[in-house]
Amino acid sequence: MLSGQHYIAGEWLNGPDVFQADSPATGNKLPTKFQHGTEELVDQAVTAAQACAEEFAAMLPAKRAEFLRAIADEIDARGDEITEIGTLESALPAARLTGERGRTVGQLRFFADWIEEGSWFEARIETAQPDRQPLPKPDLRVMNKALGPIGVFGASNFPLAFSTAGGDTASALAAGCPVVFKGHAAHPGTSEVVAKAIEAAVAKTGMPKGVFSLIHGGTRKVGQALVAHPLIKAVGFTGSTGGGRALFDIAVSRPEPIPFYGELGSNNPVFLLPKAMGEKATEIAKGWVGSLTMGVGQFCTNPGLLIAVKGADLDAFVDTAASELGQVGGTAMLTDRVSSAYHDVTDAMSKHGKVTCALKRRDSDGKFEGSPAIFRTTAADWKANPELAEEMFGPAGIIVECDTVDEMIALSATLIGQLTATVHMVDGDSDVAGKLRPALEKCAGRILINGWPTGVEVCHSMVHGGPYPASTDSRSTSVGSLAIKRFIRPVSYQAFPDALLPAAIQDANPLNIPRLVNGKWQMPS
Ligand code: NAP
Repeated sequence: MLSGQHYIAGEWLNGPDVFQADSPATGNKLPTKFQHGTEELVDQAVTAAQACAEEFAAMLPAKRAEFLRAIADEIDARGDEITEIGTLESALPAARLTGERGRTVGQLRFFADWIEEGSWFEARIETAQPDRQPLPKPDLRVMNKALGPIGVFGASNFPLAFSTAGGDTASALAAGCPVVFKGHAAHPGTSEVVAKAIEAAVAKTGMPKGVFSLIHGGTRKVGQALVAHPLIKAVGFTGSTGGGRALFDIAVSRPEPIPFYGELGSNNPVFLLPKAMGEKATEIAKGWVGSLTMGVGQFCTNPGLLIAVKGADLDAFVDTAASELGQVGGTAMLTDRVSSAYHDVTDAMSKHGKVTCALKRRDSDGKFEGSPAIFRTTAADWKANPELAEEMFGPAGIIVECDTVDEMIALSATLIGQLTATVHMVDGDSDVAGKLRPALEKCAGRILINGWPTGVEVCHSMVHGGPYPASTDSRSTSVGSLAIKRFIRPVSYQAFPDALLPAAIQDANPLNIPRLVNGKWQMPS
């Protein structure tokens, strides 16, 4: 049974009005009435978060790790319930939601292990040299500290892994920051069940009530008030470039500007190098179709832009892709907004004077339906018409045909910020791949060889970010252990008595963590 209420600092509360989520499969409203958020509820949640921020940040990592693991356990305990409501609200298949739940709980446990390991503190100690000439050197120590209350926005395309207890929430809690979460209106029931799991974990591990709140939307004022709230210290966001940019502008225009970590748009270019195309164009085309249509193409890493040299191999590639995609039926997309945006951009593409349409169908009259599409254009026309570089969030791709390899290399230098860039190559293409690498390093957060960018591993070496518009801060990632760095900042302590220092930088290393002491790494015993 869903209450439709907000979960604010341990209490389930109503708002002034209600909204209902859509069923993407039928286009009808789902029965539960969810409460609208308000600026007052945002204030209540943020104030409660601030009230416990110091206590939460000061907890030993092992205690916060226990909390993260308890959230994961409580989510697992509600697995069937989550899959049931998640499939109704997103139209994603049960298997996908089960997999996404595995990723979500895996991520929570991954951050639990990571904060216990301790190198995220980046603890550095330089002991005093009172006799140094001409001036004595003071004792100086530095470590990372939690920023304070964090606002998090749930993404429509990952109702679990980038939502209520998703990567942003997990990394903020791991850092020691309380979270005020603004739910996505596409999956409020899924958010409520996950919030119940967090509520149970709070009770089980004795966390302060303000450590997590869920506020449903219903009106844009909620998100705007959250970003503008003076006690919020940073924001994590995944969504559209327009929405993310509007909220980023609020974050940086506040009297106290704050970091806004938005993961926005990307069309994830894939370079198909000539020798690889000569050897295996058909095989690569099949791989592309699988990646392009996964999750109805609603992944931020969807490979929507292909760049290749024109010729018979590319024609064979397109024929195979069109034939394979022709067998993939239309499927319900996540929301009315996502589906309308997809139809608008693919319709505009198919009518564009500089584009050839290799495939475009509309398989059913379903309101949220999305069917595969492929377009072709030349490198010269692609460069001259910036609208052709717009993200097509769905199972559609544009193939850009270059006259020569040199034109392909020149085009790589013109790409805007991307989450990923991929190269398909064989040994004979190494020279071209080497020439592409500098441009791809400049534009993308992750560069792949002979793979597909959908499927983002949660690990220590992942970057899921990139220069704008892929993200609003190219130095950050929203996936993997480096994501914690978004919610911490270094504080330096000069000439502190040992007993007054945080444990991470006390002489005896009571947390048993790696530290840089007088320029040399000391590993835990
Ligand atoms: P969205 O429209 O950007 O919405 C994401 C969140 O931001 C929602 O909670 C939304 O609230 C809020 N929001 C958006 N604009 C706002 C504004 N001006 N002021 C205050 N709050 C605002 O993204 P979406 O609904 O998930 O999907 C729409 C499009 O975003 C897709 O078609 C796709 O192009 C893109 N998208 C990209 C990614 C990615 O991974 N990069 C993921 C999902 C979607 P409301 O619900 O109240 O509007």
